[in-house]
Amino acid sequence: MAHRTVTCPFCQRDFEGQRALAIHVQADHAGRPWVPRCEICGATFESPADLKTHHEVAHRSGRS
Ligand SMILES: [Zn+2]
Ligand SMILES: [Zn+2]
Repeated sequence: MAHRTVTCPFCQRDFEGQRALAIHVQADHAGRPWVPRCEICGATFESPADLKTHHEVAHRSGRS
């Protein structure tokens, strides 16, 4: 039952398998440079690491 998850290299989200990742990349990252953006407040960042730090500081998701 275990799905092998793969992480999007652009936005660091996890997907269940290469196919799901490919569909996501086509939908969300096709043809334009992706900018890390907070889903909660819409702020944009220079790198996924900056977005992660923002989440921890501004929204405190509670997951570590
Ligand atoms: Zn992505
Ligand atoms: Zn935010």
